[in-house]
Amino acid sequence: MKFGTKVIHAGIEPDSSSGAIMTPIFQTSTYVQDSPGVHKGYEYARTQNPTRGALEANLTSLENGADAICYASGLAAMDAVLKLLSPGDEVLSTNDLYGGSYRLMTKVYGKYGIKFKFIGLESAATIDEHITDKTKLIWLETPTNPMLNIVDIKGVVSRVPDHITVCVDNTFASPYLQNPLDLGADLVLHSATKYLGGHSDVIHGVVISKEQKMADQLRFFQNAAGAVPGPQDCFLILRGIKTLHLRVQRSCENARKIADFLEGHKAISKVYYPGFKNHPNHDIAAKQMKDFGGMVSFDLNNNSQENAYTLLSNTHLFSLAESLGGVESLIGHPASMTHASIPREDRLKVGLTDSLIRLSVGVEDADDLIADLDKAIHKIGH
Ligand SMILES: *Cc1c(COP(=O)(O)O)cnc(C)c1O
Repeated sequence: MKFGTKVIHAGIEPDSSSGAIMTPIFQTSTYVQDSPGVHKGYEYARTQNPTRGALEANLTSLENGADAICYASGLAAMDAVLKLLSPGDEVLSTNDLYGGSYRLMTKVYGKYGIKFKFIGLESAATIDEHITDKTKLIWLETPTNPMLNIVDIKGVVSRVPDHITVCVDNTFASPYLQNPLDLGADLVLHSATKYLGGHSDVIHGVVISKEQKMADQLRFFQNAAGAVPGPQDCFLILRGIKTLHLRVQRSCENARKIADFLEGHKAISKVYYPGFKNHPNHDIAAKQMKDFGGMVSFDLNNNSQENAYTLLSNTHLFSLAESLGGVESLIGHPASMTHASIPREDRLKVGLTDSLIRLSVGVEDADDLIADLDKAIHKIGH
């Protein structure tokens, strides 16, 4: 099946008991057994749930994996991957990753004797000098948040010994634009809260594994630790995925138009958009992604935080809010919102200034979105 067919059909069958064409929400905590150990494959809903099972089968197919495991949030999914590690292990990660991921690594797993190193990976070869015999996990985000840096997934994987796990946080691209397992990664993670759900109405996460063996380990931890999503949430993600390809494609088209508009504006000092030919690693993005995504970041002249706040308070179609990947456009201030947990000096090192603004471009009409931004930019005197 091609992607546009998979989103609707992969892993999803009409309900056998009723013929319901949509996967029912199995709101149950337990399942009847005929006699001890004799049942239909379901014993207790922390361990298995049919709504969750359908979603996991669908996501396995979208990322071309062996198995998928769903969680109550993207960070719960990441927590499960980090549980694969032991004290003394080292993790290499990109240096401008999602603030919550940075916090989970440094403030939680750092306490248990796991070492994290954050490096710039504009060139995949940089990884060579950082790998030690203690390195167990490489954690990649691409495009990165919010600088939209592109990491060469295939390039990194080809330089990493087989026994080291490579996990890619694919939240920003979505499986429609990028499939890290096809590029050699071992695990791919999504905050399904974002593009997969797509309607800003649910928190959810997933890990998809290339090998069944690692999936079995993750499933053991999931059952042991219990960060499972409810069936209603799984239903909402299943429903969102049915239009994933349409939504992401329109977001990409809108983002390109908005990036072009911002690039030509005299109040804007810099636009970060992987679709620009002069964006670092644009050629890699063109190779490993189907399109350049729906995220655009930009910076203002003089790095004025005051001007940034004025702009952020004067858009009407772009709502000022954390998160991304919904049908509605959002505008955010990474320094005070999504990335406030990263120390300011570390933020500035990667270009995340106090005036940087991030857009999650939705599926509205592009002309209206551009007019909305134009009006807000005028408020800062341009
Ligand atoms: C939102 C996000 C997460 C965390 O996901 P939650 O569902 O909020 O727990 C992780 N990685 C990236 C890139 C994100 O955008």
